[in-house]
Amino acid sequence: AKKLVEVRNLKKHFEVGKGKILKAVNDISFDVYEGETLGLVGESGCGKSTTGKTIIRLYRATSGEVRFHGDDVHQISGKNMKDFNRKMQMIFQDPYASLNPRMKVEDIIAEGMDIHGLFKGKERQRRVFELLETVGLNKEHASRFPHEFSGGQRQRIGIARALAVNPEFIIADEPISALDVSIQAQVVNLLKDLQKKHGLTYLFIAHDLSMVKHISDRIGVMYLGAMMELAESEDLYDEPLHPYTKALLSSIPLPDPEVEETRQRTILTGDVPSPIDPPSGCPFRTRCPEAMDVCAEKKPQWLEVRPKHYVACHLFEPESQ
Ligand code: SF4
Ligand code: MG
Repeated sequence: AKKLVEVRNLKKHFEVGKGKILKAVNDISFDVYEGETLGLVGESGCGKSTTGKTIIRLYRATSGEVRFHGDDVHQISGKNMKDFNRKMQMIFQDPYASLNPRMKVEDIIAEGMDIHGLFKGKERQRRVFELLETVGLNKEHASRFPHEFSGGQRQRIGIARALAVNPEFIIADEPISALDVSIQAQVVNLLKDLQKKHGLTYLFIAHDLSMVKHISDRIGVMYLGAMMELAESEDLYDEPLHPYTKALLSSIPLPDPEVEETRQRTILTGDVPSPIDPPSGCPFRTRCPEAMDVCAEKKPQWLEVRPKHYVACHLFEPESQ
């Protein structure tokens, strides 16, 4: 498949006063292929939202590159900028905070269309009605305000707003984390249907591996601003390589209680270190049950250790054995 987005050695650092630097995203590289869903997973503060926001240019990269259709997004200007702003859309975690409470649903959904001059007059309203139906709402909802809707419905409005401008790539930043468990599957299924129908590509951000399982073709696991492992979903679930991925997976309860009781678990102890003062070498070493001397001395390389299976860990570096 064709590469739609290429992220290369991306860093996003924030100055947080007194010469202190928060290394939110610290040198990550990956691709997103056309038509796929790439899940991006990690505990809160690991840099996954910052990654999404830097890809869509809400933040400027500190260094490294993001390419969209081969073009460096941080160099886009003029007419191409408008095109970029249309083709890449974001859905946010908090369906309460991300919709303007003073705007009618119709105007929220049509905002992007208005900016891009896509549909006008009668066409505009027809398009809004159509989008509402597409996301499982109806035209009666167009004249209402956000507070009149449930969390799941608001997230549907957010999805309609993103879809309105015919995007190619959608960054969904924890779109289901704030929703009731019973609603989560509905929203995931809606996103999957829309992907099929419109040929969309997704970066789907979540804080736990169980949430991305059913939507992702591939999954990347982040820790403390760095990418630990990236593989096709099945591969990652069935044969995780990185000690951190193993720990994340063993925190997901298994449906079979007998297997659940006898399984091998990797239990993580200690807290995630501060991204202002991350450990030397491997960022995970202070909590890794398999840490070795070399892990403090050298940062592990990002290597494709099996076809399409990337990992950053000294256990898989030939020269560390
Ligand atoms: Fe653990 Fe070392 Fe691998 Fe890091 S590089 S995950 S500390 S074994
Ligand atoms: Mg976040």
